[in-house]
Order: sequence, then C-alpha cells, then structure tokens
Amino acid sequence: MSHKYISTPAYQLVEEFRSDPQKIHDYVDAIYDRIERVEPKVRAYITIRSRDEVHKDVDMLIKSGNYEGPLFGILVAVKDNISTRGIRTTCASKMLENYVPPYDATVIRRLKSAGAIVLGKTNMDEFAMGSTTETSAFYPTRNPWDLSRVPGGSSGGSAAALVAGEATLALGSDTGGSIRNPAAFTATFGLKPTYGLVSRYGLIAYASSMDQIGPLARNTRDLALLLSVIAGYDEHDATSLPVVVPNFVKLLDEYVHREQRLRIAIVKELFERSDISVQSVAGKALDRLCSIHECDEIELRYTKHIVAAYYIIAMAEASSNLARYDGIRYGLKVEVENRSWIDVYTEVRTRGFGYEVKKRIALGAFVLSAGYRDMYYIKALRFRRMLKEMFNEIFKRFDLVASPTMPILPPKLGELVADPIKMYLADINTVIANLIGIPAISVPVGFYNGLPVGLQFMAPPLAEDKLLYVSQQLEDMLKLRDLIAEVS
Ligand code: GLN
Repeated sequence: MSHKYISTPAYQLVEEFRSDPQKIHDYVDAIYDRIERVEPKVRAYITIRSRDEVHKDVDMLIKSGNYEGPLFGILVAVKDNISTRGIRTTCASKMLENYVPPYDATVIRRLKSAGAIVLGKTNMDEFAMGSTTETSAFYPTRNPWDLSRVPGGSSGGSAAALVAGEATLALGSDTGGSIRNPAAFTATFGLKPTYGLVSRYGLIAYASSMDQIGPLARNTRDLALLLSVIAGYDEHDATSLPVVVPNFVKLLDEYVHREQRLRIAIVKELFERSDISVQSVAGKALDRLCSIHECDEIELRYTKHIVAAYYIIAMAEASSNLARYDGIRYGLKVEVENRSWIDVYTEVRTRGFGYEVKKRIALGAFVLSAGYRDMYYIKALRFRRMLKEMFNEIFKRFDLVASPTMPILPPKLGELVADPIKMYLADINTVIANLIGIPAISVPVGFYNGLPVGLQFMAPPLAEDKLLYVSQQLEDMLKLRDLIAEVS
C-alpha cells in the first residue's frame, strides 16, 4: 500500500502545502481513511473529530492566508489530559467522562497559531498513572507492531496513533517516562523537555513538580519542529522558565554541520538491569554512536532507591492534586438529595476513579500523614536532591548520559498490570529525568523479534539541542525513520 501523506514527515508536508494549500484536504482524507481502517484494531483515540469539522478548519486556515506557520496544515494527535476548548478531555477517567474544557491549554494555542489542526484526543492511562495505557477507564490501546502487546504508557495512544499512521505528530505528557516509554515501545521519537520549558497551563495535573508536556514524532526533525512550537515562557504557569527558546530545527542543522564530538556516559548498571534482548539491540546501536563520540562507562550509586523516591513523590502530589474531584466543583455529578457530604464524596470517588488511581491517592495520603511524613516523603525529597547533585557531577565530565529507555520489551496485555512491582520497577531509567528536571529523549534503535527497542539520552537542563543531535545521528545511521506499522 502507498503511504502517500501517511508517512510523510511534517516538515515536508508543510513545504508541499505552502505551494498548494488545497492539498491539505487530500492529506486529511488520507489520514481519515487510514483511521477508518486501523483504528478499530489499535484504539489509539478516545475522541476523534469528524472529518467534516476538520475539513472546515482547513478551509478557515487557507482563508486566513497565513501559510507561514511552521506546522501549516499538520494534523496533531493530543493526549487526553491536555485541555482543548470545545473538545472533550477525559484523562481516560470516568471522573471526567463528560468534561468539555472552556479553554485551550497554552500548548494548544501555540499549535493553532503555528497552523496545526488538532485531530483528536488520545487514549492514556487514567490520569497518566501507568505504563501501558491499560488503566484507561475506557479500553486499552494496542501496539500497532503486535496487537497482543501494549504500546506503553501513559501516552500510549499518542505513540500508537503515530506509528499506525493515524496522525503526523503527537503531544504527550511525561511525569516519570510517559512520553519516552511509549516512544520506545512503538519505534517513535519522544522527548521530555527540561522542567519549565513547556507550559503546563491546561495540562490536568498528576504530579506537578515532575509533569511536562512534550512532543512525539516519527523522525528527529519533526520532533525538533514540534518542540520549537510548544516551548516558551508562559505567565500562566508559575514554573515556566523565562528563557528565549531557540529554533531547534536550525540548531540541529548547525550541530550536524559541525559534527561536534560529544562525551557520552553509559550507565553500566542500567544496561545490566535490562533484559538481554534490550541490552543486545541498544548496545549495538550505542557502539555505532560511540565510534564517532567519546564514550565511557560510569557507575551510578544508590540506584535501588530511584523508583521508590519517584513513586513516593508522585503519589504524594497526586493525592493532593486529585482532592479537587469532589463532584461539586470538579468531576462526576451524582444525585445528592438528603445525603451527607461524606456520602457524596464517597460515591463520586468510588464511581469516578479506577483502582490504580484510588490506590495512589491512598498511598499518597499515607506517605504525607503525620508520623510517616518524615519516614517517606521527606526522605524521598532528600534523595531527590542527592540524585540531582550526583548528576551535576556527572555533567561536569559528560554531555549526555545513555541507557536503554525501557529495561523490557513491550509486554503482552495484562502482563504488567498483573505485577505492579515489576511495572513500577520498569520505570527506573526514565524517572531520573523527572526527579531532577532534566531533558531526556527516546530514540528507536532496532527491533528484537519484531518488537521495538529504544535508547534513552539525558542531558543537563536546556540542552535539548544535544539530545536532538544524537537522535538525528542515530536516525541517519540506522534509518529507523518515518516508520508505519502495517497493523494486521
Ligand atoms: N509509569 C509512571 C507512573 O505511573 C510514569 C507515568 C507518567 O509519566 N505519567 O507514574
């Protein structure tokens, strides 16, 4: 089958559309035809806008005469925890099943002014809590490379939509790996930006000190393009960084041109803790990269505390953030006649939240409670600071830190949710970047028995350009770009 429009990179489409804007309509039809064919199997979306509505948007876009937007005419899939005015935003939860936001998140406003069109809202783990997209209150999303397996999570719908050819670009959110994990499991590119580089305004909160919105794409250049559009200071987000955002596409070209040599630290332990299948594929790709850069193995101490610290902090913040869903100001509405507040709250939360969310609220409240606070929450915060200092030291000697993105291959549906400890432990490589606020990327580096493997790189704050640079080099070496899974 021809993949005209389906697999074409955004940066090429934009060029084509500028010289003939009517082509955007053909592109929209191609993507919608593809969705009709594969979506019943993949289930990447929770809400898909109607074809007609999108064609109307295209007409308006063309009429506006603004062809210069960097994403002119591009269809973007948006994770369902990012607020979209007039489009239902559920967080994959019964609690918000009928919630239609009255405003756009800052990233959505930026997408629109860049000429992009929101195509639909993608499936995810409920409130972004999970690693497989199976805790969605509606249905799981399937991995387009192997429908018996998960696409990763929590932004599993966004990654699956891309690799199934159901969108050209996608947005996800990453609190502990939720962009990079599904990128690794689907052979797409995903980047978690430096904390504060992309506005969180309009992102439904999970753990606010770690949440970041970021781009997913099928090639590095598209990733850089989307990042340039969504990044930037926003007065509506108190943690937004007041920095001037560079044009990452231009920076990328400059790096590639200079062929700059980087110093890359390889975290031995994170490789050794990974499955042999992952080690072999990721190791081989890294060897090639190390033939042009300077690589050295490093030891990371106290790795066994990383996952615990992350989950304590994430759950503590979640328990406080999710307290707002009381069925009165926020959340599910239930009949309240003649009943006490306690009854109403209980009813709303019993019906509105799924098991994983309830568990995390309970554990989060526990680690914050008097008597346990010092033992868990405060200790986790101390560890977080120590981890940050350890990485500050590492970044004095190295530009990047490499590890597999996920220590396992994409599991079968049901496999990880049945073993929560295994599921949490699989986050060890990704949560580091969230705990200490640094940027990290996942790059597809190969397949093992038909299943994708991703390599992760972490960089110091605001060094996204270096991440994009190695990503581009790996992409050029391995040619794992613009991949579309057949879905059968
Ligand atoms: N799997 C991790 C968690 O469940 C990460 C989720 C995320 O990044 N949103 O918390």
